[in-house]
Amino acid sequence: MHETARAQSILRAVLERAQKENLPILSKVEVLVNPTAGVDKEELLEIIDEIKQNTFLKETSFELKEMEMQATCKECGTVFLLNSPFDTCPSCGSAEVELSLIEDWALGKLE
Ligand SMILES: [Zn+2]
Repeated sequence: MHETARAQSILRAVLERAQKENLPILSKVEVLVNPTAGVDKEELLEIIDEIKQNTFLKETSFELKEMEMQATCKECGTVFLLNSPFDTCPSCGSAEVELSLIEDWALGKLE
């Protein structure tokens, strides 16, 4: 099943980023899903809930959001979601951003 593979790579990406950003405890993870990629969100969420039981993300709640576009700041490299075409980088305020399409999914905010 596609969704099993997706769930596994999502958890792996969360673990990697939590390590890199030194986040010992996560209460919420936002996962952005491209609505045109044919992802079964309900199934994906179920599988994530199952797999996370064996990880430190056991208590973390996952939220799936539909989003097609993301932006990368050309100044500082921050990847963020676009709420409007005129958004500027939330980290450095730069308006020099590059738009890209999310593939199947991308990680949003970790809290
Ligand atoms: Zn920036």
